[in-house]
Amino acid sequence: MSASLSVRGLEASYGAFKVLHGLDFEIAEGSVTTLLGANGAGKTTTLRALCGMIRRSGTIEFDGRSIARMKTEDIVRLGIAHVPEGRGTFTSLTVEENLQLGAMTRRGGDNIAQDIDRIYSFFPRLKERAAQQAGTLSGGEQQMLAIGRALMLRPRLMLLDEPSFGLAPLIVRELFAILADIRANMGVSMLLVEQNATMALELADQAYLIETGSIALSGSAAEIRDNDSVRNSYLGY
Ligand code: ATP
Repeated sequence: MSASLSVRGLEASYGAFKVLHGLDFEIAEGSVTTLLGANGAGKTTTLRALCGMIRRSGTIEFDGRSIARMKTEDIVRLGIAHVPEGRGTFTSLTVEENLQLGAMTRRGGDNIAQDIDRIYSFFPRLKERAAQQAGTLSGGEQQMLAIGRALMLRPRLMLLDEPSFGLAPLIVRELFAILADIRANMGVSMLLVEQNATMALELADQAYLIETGSIALSGSAAEIRDNDSVRNSYLGY
């Protein structure tokens, strides 16, 4: 079951350097929301702040429950899975071992084999490479594995950081089609941080544009796509 997130006045700093200046945003249950913005705008920091990896202040409610003071492990247990930039798979373990590890932090330890089969149904390439070391996978396959591993938590909200980073355009298309499939079939809510604004806006329902740690623009994905300054600065047409 998917879940909703409500964020008010989110602030975060690295030491004395304030990066987020009071963000307000919502993720409706079962929806995909994208955070767009230039390099250094604070997108990655927002995801880190939501899952408690850095100090933050403000209100963060997940399904009506405050998580702003919770530790990362407790936030993960509530059903928020973070797929960080750079993927972070265990390169010397096999694909299947990586997926098994993904289930370690979730509440129920049952039906792991069944969940792995389900993930293979979304990512047939991972099934073909089940016994292969993760370090030998292509970039696109490693990204798929990182998402698959996060899904092993049976998350209700997935925080995806730049899933298209460094991937060839065809692979990006394939990956986004799979994300659409996962969303439709698993009902998981997603917060997607992306440089590839075109792809992100195709998948998303809602979009927020972050500029230097503040929300500069928000609306439905269609409204944001039609915005002239977004077109000029982020979509290139
Ligand atoms: P990118 O697409 O480049 O990752 P972003 O929008 O995700 O951009 P963030 O990574 O959130 O941006 O960075 C926001 C600001 O915080 C930047 O000015 C960055 O230099 C700074 N920053 C990020 N991580 C750290 C850190 N660990 N220590 C100090 N400053 C940091």
